[in-house]
Amino acid sequence: MTFNDLNLIPSILKALQKENYTSPTPIQQQAIPVALEGRDVLGCAQTGTGKTAAFSLPIIQRLSAAPAAGGKRPIRSLILTPTRELAIQIYDNIRAYSRYTELRSVVIVGGVSQTPQERELQRGTDILIATPGRLLDLINQKHVSLDVVEVLVLDEADRMLDMGFIRDVQKIIARTPAKKQTLFFSATMPPEIADLVDSLLVDPAKVEI
Ligand code: AMP
Repeated sequence: MTFNDLNLIPSILKALQKENYTSPTPIQQQAIPVALEGRDVLGCAQTGTGKTAAFSLPIIQRLSAAPAAGGKRPIRSLILTPTRELAIQIYDNIRAYSRYTELRSVVIVGGVSQTPQERELQRGTDILIATPGRLLDLINQKHVSLDVVEVLVLDEADRMLDMGFIRDVQKIIARTPAKKQTLFFSATMPPEIADLVDSLLVDPAKVEI
């Protein structure tokens, strides 16, 4: 199978070519078609499997099909991930995969000055990649609105639980619209994560490698 078999738009295919990706990994083969249909996805996959492109490419395709109206860029996709390193990796990958689109992405992590992040958010962004703690601070200070989020990604949900972020994650999810697409990834399924899956996902397609 090649990426050409996955119904991806030319601007994404061109970016994948530039990255020298030839064929989709197993998680990408399974997740991309169902995510492109708009279904919720429950993915069991570790970092290193190509998980980032599995959730990012369908988001890029969906958002570039219907650009934000009026030049404004409300956040239409939110990606939550446990660590600063993962957030920056995801941001770098999404920037590469969306290089031939008009989409803008911003990354928000803790442990660095907040003011430049406020300025980046002020400019607007289609896609926001964030760790939970700093994002919740920015939401509470009204620097972020999640009112029109269409696609939510929870990356490494079990690690967010282990790191004590689950309450923050729940508060952030409560700020997003009820009607949305959710792409949920967790390597393990402890009871708290299973509960979150039950409350959040609607008839998810299960992908596992
Ligand atoms: P991830 O699991 O998303 O962190 O991806 C692991 C690594 O594999 C990253 O360096 C990606 O750039 C790379 N990668 C992801 N998908 C592919 C692919 N289809 N072909 C080649 N490399 C890939």
